[in-house]
Amino acid sequence: MMNTQALTLAHLYPEQMNIYGDRGNIIALERRCAWRGIELRVIPIGLGDVIDWSACDLAFFGGGQDSGQALIADDFLRRHSEPLARAIEDGLVMLAICGGYQLLGHYFLTHAGEQLPGVGVLDIHTVGGSKRLIGNIVVEVNWALESLEQPATLSSVQPAIRLVGFENHSGRTYHGPRVRSLGRVLAGYGDNGEDSVGGAVYRNTIGCYLHGALLPKNLQLADHLLLAALRRRYGNGATFAPLDDTLELQAQQIMTRRLVT
Ligand code: GLN
Repeated sequence: MMNTQALTLAHLYPEQMNIYGDRGNIIALERRCAWRGIELRVIPIGLGDVIDWSACDLAFFGGGQDSGQALIADDFLRRHSEPLARAIEDGLVMLAICGGYQLLGHYFLTHAGEQLPGVGVLDIHTVGGSKRLIGNIVVEVNWALESLEQPATLSSVQPAIRLVGFENHSGRTYHGPRVRSLGRVLAGYGDNGEDSVGGAVYRNTIGCYLHGALLPKNLQLADHLLLAALRRRYGNGATFAPLDDTLELQAQQIMTRRLVT
């Protein structure tokens, strides 16, 4: 039977918010869909653009320099905060990295003292520090990702997945009670370099500091996002073929072993 599944992904501010290969996340999602015969429509959202968030399955918001974030923060807040918050409550599958992650929170107070308002859909806030937190990072995911074998539940037993990435941020992000952590930092700094928290999860939205790009290096997370979006749109009838990820998984394992001592 021909696979006619299609997903729509909104890519927020690709011009201003794309750093350390974040666009690779879109390419990974596109390729992993194409290999399975799934159509992925990517809609870039620039300054001044509007979009019907209720028609989107996925969203991606990459990182940026403080100056890039300052250029788009106001537009993001004015045009997208309410409909995006509704879509996230409704289960939109979203990934936000670093600068994008910070702007999903309540605010980012930059090291220079400028307060950039966030849309507040994640219960986090970020404060810039004088020392940048730079280097490779490993985060061990402490909940079950969606997988072909089983839907995600907090209690299901799955071998812990170690995500590998690269971080470079001045912002220290602190969590409130309405987010849970994506995982525990085993190498590197993570959200704030103090409490070993690496990333935040709220409903189907994930934010974290892992550039690299994140998804080509961590296929379990790429497939988690796609599967969550497919199950949301097509229910249990969603089809999702397994792929041969031998080489990618080996690369991930080699890096995590090298970094976690
Ligand atoms: N400008 C933000 C910071 O330095 C985000 C950086 C990034 O996206 N890499 O914290």
